[in-house]
Amino acid sequence: MTATLLDGKQIAEQIRGELTRDVTAFVDRCGIRPALAAVLVGDFAPSEVYVRNKEKACQRVGIRSQVHRLAQETSEPDLLRLIDQLNQDRDVHGILVQLPLPRHIREARVLDAVHPLKDVDAFHPENVGLIAQGRPRYLPCTPHGISQLLHRSGIKTRGKHAVIVGRSDIVGKPMSLMLMNRDSSVGPDGANATVTVCHTHTADLAGVTRRADLLIAAIGRPKFITGEMVKPGAVVVDVGINRTESGLVGDVDFEAVKEIAGFLTPVPGGVGPLTVTMLLYNTLEAAKRQVGDLAVSNILRDAG
Ligand code: NAP
Repeated sequence: MTATLLDGKQIAEQIRGELTRDVTAFVDRCGIRPALAAVLVGDFAPSEVYVRNKEKACQRVGIRSQVHRLAQETSEPDLLRLIDQLNQDRDVHGILVQLPLPRHIREARVLDAVHPLKDVDAFHPENVGLIAQGRPRYLPCTPHGISQLLHRSGIKTRGKHAVIVGRSDIVGKPMSLMLMNRDSSVGPDGANATVTVCHTHTADLAGVTRRADLLIAAIGRPKFITGEMVKPGAVVVDVGINRTESGLVGDVDFEAVKEIAGFLTPVPGGVGPLTVTMLLYNTLEAAKRQVGDLAVSNILRDAG
């Protein structure tokens, strides 16, 4: 068997086209251009690349972006003062704090300081709580991108056994909540899964992953998911981005798993492009919420 590849790049392009139209319509209606402020502390090279990519992506769909670059030795109070300024700034609708932060700054303290309505990463406890209760305000970008990727590829999760390897606050945990919920941004067919979450203490990991109809790998270990860990015909989503000597590789052993899975995301070109796209989506949503323009229908639910 050779798996069908799930083309994240193409689906991200499709969503960006829809967003460009929706941003234009919003600007025409409200006279306000959605704006995202990114905060980058220190000189961690990959973060610089991510922030630049996000900036470019904003410009392409008509969202204004600003980047606040702070020195590595910036103090936590100084960073909190900037967050407070951005919270108060009516011309900024979304705030993104690029992680990781330098070790002397408490990440949770900073993320908690972002106003929940401007929290376009959906990391604030209020937004996480709303997801857990099945009434999300914003969805975290990577899990939301995966929902869109599956939906737009005609893959339903309702009634399926979804196994997620990884329980991070950014990917694994919110993904598990979203799949377990009764409804999703793409309707009930994109939720209502039976969900198992695995981590370093999971016993017989391969035995668990082999029972997955949908296997999501968010581990951060190159080629960790081998062919023997996958049920024939399963949908396999590879979230991993690992820099190795042979280039970027995912958490899934692509060559082996493509012979066993029914559907598979490549790395690069799978989940990655959707993550940035859903950040743009959240920024537009945040702008709508802040100007009270909530009558607008959810373009993503209508799509696909
Ligand atoms: P993370 O915070 O490091 O979490 C990794 C998770 O994997 C943890 O829950 C850990 O378990 C689990 N894990 C690690 N080794 C394991 C093992 N041997 N067996 C079972 N579970 C194991 O990672 P993350 O932030 O979720 O990111 C995961 C990967 O996705 C990284 O490669 C990251 O670069 C990538 N990523 C990609 C995107 C994208 O847009 N494509 C977005 C975000 C992240 P414990 O909790 O027990 O330690």
